[in-house]
Amino acid sequence: VTTIIPPLPPGVDPLRVLGVDYLNARPLWEAFRGDPRVDLKLAPPSELARALAENEADVGLLPVAAAATMGELRLLRNMALGARGKVRSVAIVSERPIHELDSIALDLSSRTSVVLTRLLLERRKLSPKLFGARPEDAAKAVGDRTGALIIGDPALLLEHRYAHRLDLAQEWFEWTGLPFVFAAWFARPDAVSREQEDLFRIAKQKGLARTDQIAAEHAARSGLEVDSLREYLTASMRYDLGDEELAGLERFWAEAAKAGLLPAVTPSFDEPRVSASRPTLDSILSRAADGERLSASDGVRLMGEGSFFELGLAADAVRRRKHPKDVVTYIVDRNVNYTNVCTTSCRFCAFYRPVGHPEGYVLSREVLGKKLQEVKDAGGVQILLQGGLNPDLRIEWYEDLFRWMKSEYGLGLHALSPEEIIHISQIEELSIRRVLERLHASGLDSVPGGGAEILVDRVRRKIAKAKCSSSEWLEVMRVAHQMGLRSSATMMYGTVDTLEERIQHLVKIRDLQDETGGFTAFFCWDYQHENGTHLPPGENGTHLYLRMQAVARLMLDNVDHVGASWVTQGPAVGQVALRFGADDFGSVMFEENVVSSAGTTFQIGAEAIEKRIHEAGFKATRRNVRYDWLTEPS
Ligand code: SF4
Repeated sequence: VTTIIPPLPPGVDPLRVLGVDYLNARPLWEAFRGDPRVDLKLAPPSELARALAENEADVGLLPVAAAATMGELRLLRNMALGARGKVRSVAIVSERPIHELDSIALDLSSRTSVVLTRLLLERRKLSPKLFGARPEDAAKAVGDRTGALIIGDPALLLEHRYAHRLDLAQEWFEWTGLPFVFAAWFARPDAVSREQEDLFRIAKQKGLARTDQIAAEHAARSGLEVDSLREYLTASMRYDLGDEELAGLERFWAEAAKAGLLPAVTPSFDEPRVSASRPTLDSILSRAADGERLSASDGVRLMGEGSFFELGLAADAVRRRKHPKDVVTYIVDRNVNYTNVCTTSCRFCAFYRPVGHPEGYVLSREVLGKKLQEVKDAGGVQILLQGGLNPDLRIEWYEDLFRWMKSEYGLGLHALSPEEIIHISQIEELSIRRVLERLHASGLDSVPGGGAEILVDRVRRKIAKAKCSSSEWLEVMRVAHQMGLRSSATMMYGTVDTLEERIQHLVKIRDLQDETGGFTAFFCWDYQHENGTHLPPGENGTHLYLRMQAVARLMLDNVDHVGASWVTQGPAVGQVALRFGADDFGSVMFEENVVSSAGTTFQIGAEAIEKRIHEAGFKATRRNVRYDWLTEPS
């Protein structure tokens, strides 16, 4: 049978559809191939939410956990990836019964399955240690008392390998009597017309009619048995999204929100639209103050519509709940910029000099030694070492420097932001992991969160073309956290970024934190537009800074600390920031060249910091990079 696909009328753009290159998803998108009405792309599940949020796609086959974090989406009716009972492709495998496990490695490629795992463990009152693993490594972690959450082909390939296997959809069904929905087509509001929605229904019909061929093709590629795959696609997987599935989905969202794993979603499943209903500002604020997870659209509404004082009150409530003793920390350290030579040419940066410029410098050991000694003499505990991307400095230079700093001065080394790590990996042609391993072995203790700016590529391309992408920045942090290194997370807004993009930035930090738990704290500040910068200022000012920090405190429910950015805003604003969610007053600054090159130079010592903290009504204590208290709060 030949299907005649009508061409697109002139001036009409094809619908941008993102599918997932998983076997079980193919029946839903395969028929779009070659259809001019649809621009089909495939992406890993973790990319879909980002692409939808950043308007790079109109519709995505979005995991339902990710959909809950976004809010304000339209769910296309009657199509989903789900199971009623055993699904076979999502399971915890182990050599012992699950209640005897000490730990479980989680394949993090499906956030929905990770949330479901947590819910099912909680229901059984089990609390093994959970740790993330790459999809190809999760099963390798299975040991005497370690199990693994495995997903997709590995779960099918290893179906009969282990003594124990907990099928998550089966377990869910036994608990709730409802099907489980893993993913469904979610669209940006108003992106899909009724006619376009029909395309999805027709594609599904065509795809399901081809399950035999899909199974055969996948068997040839994967080595799995064709009969087993056919049975999987036709009996285990369910592609409908009827009333029962919607009830299962609603229950999952409700259970995950109750456990604090996902934002509360209030779905309204009326035809023809299915979307989260619009909560009131009051309800968002009180949910946030109670520690519930907020969606991206909740964050946008708070930034756009929340009153200044209510945002402050809610953020302060979160700060008090997380840090009930009214103690504000600070650190005695020093920011040393070891070189100003840089190839990135960020338009907001007045500090760097291009390669070969007469004002370019690399600090000598003599100068560095003097600075480090001053830190030691002042009772400092660490050095924050950052610089430009200088192509003349090879990895051995950093290794020698770190070893020397450690052996001579014994200070903590909070060094090299992700951009610098990526730069070293590129000039050395080494993986990020290898670079971090070598630097860690030479003395690197933790990774500063500089260079994040706004983790949205549209913004990054505009403020510095050569900047690493947001996913590259996050990947460095992911690897560092997996190695046990801790880091801060930062945000510089107020260039070309929009309110929505600032919230996306926060969601990305929160998502990675869910995965690794490696961020100790969050700091934000606005772009300092002054001498030598080449970018006109966007939105900025004290009012916006305090709002931004308060919303960050509310959105980042899984990050313990928020630091007041008094270096850019001034100490008095820093004091107010302590009532807008911050519990840390940052660092005693000896110098900070990137900001001070732009003309912003606030410098205060430890005594003055403590005085500021006391004036704001808090006790003060010194901390280290992991936020351990080093002095008795007073
Ligand atoms: S901000 Fe950093 S990466 Fe960008 S130009 Fe300045 S020194 Fe280079």
